[in-house]
Amino acid sequence: MATAFVTGGSRGIGAEVVRALAPRCNVAFSYRSSEREARALEEELAAYGGVKAFFCDVSDAESVRAAERAVRERFGGADMLVNCAGVSSRGLFQDIADAEWRRTFDVNCDGAFYVTRAFLPYMIEKKRGSIVNVSSVWGVVGGACETAYSASKAALVGMTLALAKEVAPSGVTVNAVAPGAVDTDMMKCYSAAELEEICAGIPLGRMARPDEIASAVVFLLEHGYVTGQVLTVDGGFTA
Ligand code: NAP
Repeated sequence: MATAFVTGGSRGIGAEVVRALAPRCNVAFSYRSSEREARALEEELAAYGGVKAFFCDVSDAESVRAAERAVRERFGGADMLVNCAGVSSRGLFQDIADAEWRRTFDVNCDGAFYVTRAFLPYMIEKKRGSIVNVSSVWGVVGGACETAYSASKAALVGMTLALAKEVAPSGVTVNAVAPGAVDTDMMKCYSAAELEEICAGIPLGRMARPDEIASAVVFLLEHGYVTGQVLTVDGGFTA
């Protein structure tokens, strides 16, 4: 049976990806601070028999290596990878502190690099695999007062496009999804009035549900011939 590894599976979009994949394959997923939520998800999906949570701080290369070893010991390796762990960052450009810029890149960009570097060799050895990076529409069109976040998500798009070409001869696909606003904890930094304004700017008039992003992720994971693409799922926001 195939195995997927999903970073940031403890909450939000990542948790919905885990739920969507559980009936299809073994699912290893990571948490960093939300162990309680991760264990609850494991429990919820226990009937499928192959869902297991692992600690992993994606911004720490050693923690990523340890998680990859643990997944390999439990499942033999991962045929599918979803880089979903991420942090938001808001503020005026001139106020961004060095540490804030670094924190954003450490998780959103370096994290996806560390995780992909750790999990890719198994896919190349097997001559099959699929990787989906969760970027953002801000990584494609840029978001005012979210420059660090937008830059980190644009870097993820660049990594997706370049790696897709590099590993296609090894039978591995690499794609990204670029969600618009999604109703998760990440949007809790906005006031009710701000959320209303955000929804007013979306042609479909509402934020996405996390499961609507998860189904796009699963589509890309399973499609053997789509690679090097960024699939926007934003209710028409960038149309
Ligand atoms: P969320 O509910 O805030 O969840 C964030 C997830 O990332 C959690 O599972 C968290 O794990 C994990 N995470 C954060 N830092 C980590 C680290 N250093 N190491 C490992 N895991 C870490 O956010 P979400 O909305 O589901 O976002 C998921 C992805 O979608 C992110 O990459 C985000 O940028 C992207 N996205 C979200 C939106 C949106 O509107 N919500 C829009 C576009 C793109 P713990 O809680 O266990 O620490």
